[in-house]
Amino acid sequence: MAAKKMDNYEILRRFFGHSAFREGQEQIIDALVSGRDVCGVMPTGAGKSICYQVPALRLPGVTVVVSPLISLMKDQVEALTQCGIPAAFLNSSMSASEFSETLADARYGAYKLLYVAPERLLTDGFLAFSASMPISMVAVDEAHCVSQWGQDFRPSYLKIVDYIDRLPRRPVVAAFTATATRAVRDDVVRLLQLRDPFVLVTGFDRGNLRFETQAPRDKYAACVRLLRAHPEQSGIVYCATRKTTDELASRLMDDGFSVTRYHAGLSDAERRRNQEDFINDRRLIVVATNAFGMGIDKSNVRFVIHYNMPKNLESYYQEAGRAGRDGEPSVCTLLYGAQDVATCQWLIEHSSDNAELDERTRAVIRQRDLVRLRQMKEYATTTDCLRGCILRYFGDDAPESCGNCSNCLSEFTVADITVDAQKILSCVYRLRERGQSAGAELTAQILHGSQAKRIAENHYDTLSTYGIMRDVPVATIRAIIDELLRRHCLETSQDEKPVLLLNAASKDVLFGRKKLSRRVPVPPKAEKTKPVTTVLTGKPAGDGEDALFRQLRLLRAVIARREEVPPYIVFSDATLRAMAAARPTTPEAFQELPGVGQKKLERYGERFMLLIRMNGEGRV
Ligand code: ADP
Ligand code: ZN
Repeated sequence: MAAKKMDNYEILRRFFGHSAFREGQEQIIDALVSGRDVCGVMPTGAGKSICYQVPALRLPGVTVVVSPLISLMKDQVEALTQCGIPAAFLNSSMSASEFSETLADARYGAYKLLYVAPERLLTDGFLAFSASMPISMVAVDEAHCVSQWGQDFRPSYLKIVDYIDRLPRRPVVAAFTATATRAVRDDVVRLLQLRDPFVLVTGFDRGNLRFETQAPRDKYAACVRLLRAHPEQSGIVYCATRKTTDELASRLMDDGFSVTRYHAGLSDAERRRNQEDFINDRRLIVVATNAFGMGIDKSNVRFVIHYNMPKNLESYYQEAGRAGRDGEPSVCTLLYGAQDVATCQWLIEHSSDNAELDERTRAVIRQRDLVRLRQMKEYATTTDCLRGCILRYFGDDAPESCGNCSNCLSEFTVADITVDAQKILSCVYRLRERGQSAGAELTAQILHGSQAKRIAENHYDTLSTYGIMRDVPVATIRAIIDELLRRHCLETSQDEKPVLLLNAASKDVLFGRKKLSRRVPVPPKAEKTKPVTTVLTGKPAGDGEDALFRQLRLLRAVIARREEVPPYIVFSDATLRAMAAARPTTPEAFQELPGVGQKKLERYGERFMLLIRMNGEGRV
């Protein structure tokens, strides 16, 4: 095809409509085209697909893309077809005749890219096909599935190597994943038998994401406030359990939000329907457990709210990272509550994930999970830069302050907490004197003078420290306890129900040898709840720009419905934003927009330009 003589840049421009490569993309492409294996580790949304799609067009023959999820394949093939790149998929959603028809077309060279589920690779039909065709590249998407250390181990991924071995000529092999840890990366290289691979690990920062944490007294009210700050925008609300998911979804629906729900307890049919409703923008918000998201490529998710804290930062970053894949400003908010820690702890203690392992190994894993939980909680409660906290966790360098997270954007006052800390520590001390002990929540309740039943039952109300912090809200006492734990002036036991313990540093505080202070956020001003698009871009949307954007989005929805593809496959939000700002009315100007290649210009240009022209006249 014509693409053979085109260089990387022309392909990027003509087919994908992008004007520049992102970090790492071109190096990977060049390595693959020159015949060198690649292992690419890039965060979600960084643009891994282009790294094998561009070489697929430059190399002779066919590229086989191994991908674990049917929905993902379908999405990718639709997107490629829209760009004018011949591609197809082979998976279990197809009938036998569809399957052999696709293969027959492929034999005639109808496709440059063929997406295949790993289970299909070693079937007779596919092996015969592969022997008869020049396969120049095998690209493995979500390559961490090959590793038992990854979160989504799939035994069928181990067959990929068998498949490659059976080909008449070894193709170049490319592996891609967003999982950063060293163990997984090494497994990918080893188990896929990459040969002297070019390994590229890009930074894990996602600059367009704003990170926020809140510890609201009323989570529901906080959630509603956040949703109101994103009118007409698409987002995900993650909950820890199916029950919370159901309850929150119906409550939000009652309050008039455009909501659907998703968790593993629903029927296949409902899950599929709800997912489609969300992807096609028929419902703006999906309330879901962590079962939702793998394989969701929806690029215009503008916010991800965590109604509960996940078990570790890996999960959090993966889930939050589903926001803003199109590179547009998006927000990730964690609503933290002390109860979340207990829930996670319970889940870790009662996990049946590794039932096949022996008790000793399971204990090691449990310990590791508890450490990760502690780090997650640190993220939820820190007053330092949140992005810095994430990046350092993943081994990246990070500046002191990113300027785009709730801690960097908040004003803090510094409060002296030495006296409060002494009260808390003496309460722990008094309890110990009596041979009693308590966790953080109970200790806070004792100090606050709570009337709860368990207080009287255990005679906590006769302690000299009972009620000595009556004027401080329980949540604030908890926050100070968290601060003491973070500064290692207090510790927790390592049991199922951790209790507070004193250590050497506690004594320094108790005896006045050490002073302590805490950064307290100044409550945000009302303007912070303005819609995110105008707040985040820094420059306010120009006159009528938002209105035009809305109209363009409507047109996109109409086209998407008619063509039966998700709206973001037609044009991304980023493209529509640029369109609303630049108002192109000639084909040349239209193709200057990011995400507009030749094919899309031909296909949609006229209709969108007509709308822009009409809008211009009406505006004056
Ligand atoms: P990943 O697989 O790494 O999560 P994708 O390949 O789905 O990411 O790409 C994420 C988004 O980034 C897509 O909307 C894609 O069009 C866009 N993108 C990729 N490369 C570029 C580029 N060079 N310039 C502009 N946008 C890009
Ligand atoms: Zn920051």
